[in-house]
Amino acid sequence: MDVLRRSPHGWIEVITGSMFSGKSEELIRRLRRAQIARQQVQIFKPLVDDRFGEDHIVSHSDMRLASENVTNSTELLARVRPNVEVIGIDEGQFFDAGLPAACNTLAGQGRRVIVAGLDQDYLGRPFEPMPQLLAIAEYITKTLAICVVCGGPANHTQRLVANADRVLVGASGLYEARCRHCFDPNLSAEAPR
Ligand code: ADP
Ligand code: ZN
Repeated sequence: MDVLRRSPHGWIEVITGSMFSGKSEELIRRLRRAQIARQQVQIFKPLVDDRFGEDHIVSHSDMRLASENVTNSTELLARVRPNVEVIGIDEGQFFDAGLPAACNTLAGQGRRVIVAGLDQDYLGRPFEPMPQLLAIAEYITKTLAICVVCGGPANHTQRLVANADRVLVGASGLYEARCRHCFDPNLSAEAPR
């Protein structure tokens, strides 16, 4: 491993919360600051997320930053350039179970690793591998959206269509932010035939 120019100590930061809670905005904000400080930054997202531009991470408020698509955590590890100091990863919940170990490896090499991802799925269940990442991260930021029903703190992603797939990629029309009182997992249940 090449010796990194700066930051002798690596660590893991996780930004997590519901959809529309500002995870991508916060990730982009941190990565931009690192770029301005002329740190070597590399940004990844999983290939499954074809919501937006092919080669950018994009927030719902249309902030964007160039990124690389990878199919799994092994490919991510292999693609990291030797001199990279800061690594950004969006949509962490769409990665395989090897993501926490990959982040550990990168942090152990002295790099700052920042991962954004959903903490819960559309039924409110912990969304692997984010729980495992939260357990090993040095820093955790929980972001909240605003409940579109009552204006309370939204910790849930409400699916608005009947579909039982855990991964159903989309945004407005398919999902909205809701608080624990207004969240209704039965809304997304398949209608009986
Ligand atoms: P995430 O990555 O957590 O899905 P983004 O960073 O992509 O979130 O988007 C955050 C932006 O989403 C907000 O700045 C706002 O423009 C928009 N937004 C849409 N619905 C809501 C909501 N219910 N509460 C807060 N922000 C919302
Ligand atoms: Zn509410």
